Amino acid sequence: MTNDGANLYDLPQPRLARALGTIVSPPFRVKQIEEWMYVHGVDSFDAMTNIPKELRAALAEHYRLDFPQVIERTTPAADGSQKYLFTLRDGNRIEAVYMPMGDRTSICLSSQAGCAVGCTFCVTGFFGAGRNLTPGEMLGQFFTIQHEHNVPMEMMNVVFMGMGEPLLNFENLVATLDVLYRNIAPKRITVSTSGIIPGIDELAKLPRRPNLAVSINAPDRRRREEIMPITKKYPLEELIASLKRYPSEKGREITIEYVLLAGYNDSHLDAVALAKLIHGLRAKVNAIPFNEDPNLPPWMKRPKEGSIDRFVDTLVRNGVAVTVRRSKGREIAAACGQLRGKEVARRRPKTG
Ligand code: SAH
Ligand code: SF4
Repeated sequence: MTNDGANLYDLPQPRLARALGTIVSPPFRVKQIEEWMYVHGVDSFDAMTNIPKELRAALAEHYRLDFPQVIERTTPAADGSQKYLFTLRDGNRIEAVYMPMGDRTSICLSSQAGCAVGCTFCVTGFFGAGRNLTPGEMLGQFFTIQHEHNVPMEMMNVVFMGMGEPLLNFENLVATLDVLYRNIAPKRITVSTSGIIPGIDELAKLPRRPNLAVSINAPDRRRREEIMPITKKYPLEELIASLKRYPSEKGREITIEYVLLAGYNDSHLDAVALAKLIHGLRAKVNAIPFNEDPNLPPWMKRPKEGSIDRFVDTLVRNGVAVTVRRSKGREIAAACGQLRGKEVARRRPKTG
């Protein structure tokens, strides 16, 4: 039976121990429960087989352990990747993506049920703001997919590149990271931001930091303001300065994400300008060919393969390390928000 008590997965670790302490007395029991949650990711008290039955019943009376419910899975792409649509308790819908990649597997998580940042090339931005996800809702996406595919934790990478702006949900993000760190090293986790400077500065202060990815997407301030209006609040030059002061860890570099839009930001000169913009940063570029969608402006097109190659070559010749998100799995991840977008568009007929 469910009750309306708190979802234990929503409590940051110190609060969880305190909450459990009101019902569970021996400290080793608290540790056992934490292990069932944080290491095994169980979603029922009954699964905690080494906890006495009466204690499980008492816990279930006061608290919940729940995850978002899967309502749709895409059929796996050629490379095995799959997108998941989840529903939350309040009916909000979010997406996550499973991406097997040889001896590693990545799971792409959503951090908000929408996004107020409003980038013009992004389906999540098109549908507008959505509330912050709780730690339980982020961990639930992770554990559900990890369980379904039985992925060993040591093979796991996590990327916060789904719906929403993780640095605008900072506190819950940090609580979620703290749990993920139980199983996954910080260098295996990446947080992608549209450039929320105060959030980047906060992230810099954490004792254990995930990798940082920053969506730059344009080689100059004018064009970035056009497609990423947040640039008016956090100017491009100041954003680059915040990346320069970001503490770099051994063997790590910042990922500069760059969505390639045909005829807009994909020329030879744009690549030269981008190389110049990020000069002096310990960074690599991840070029993401634009993913077309009926909800996005019709002029926005994915560049032809030849232009993508030329753009990448120019960056390389200017001393920049580049990867291109070409595999199917990577592309469906870049298209996060599009599955829910289809749903919303079906339910809400377009006007005009
Ligand atoms: N809000 C964060 C993380 C989620 S978006 C951020 O903006 O970084 C994750 C990535 O998807 C970003 O790099 C974004 O630029 C990219 N993206 C969004 N819409 C896209 C589209 N239609 N095609 C390709 N990439 C897209
Ligand atoms: Fe939000 Fe990122 Fe989409 Fe921009 S690209 S609207 S920040 S989710």
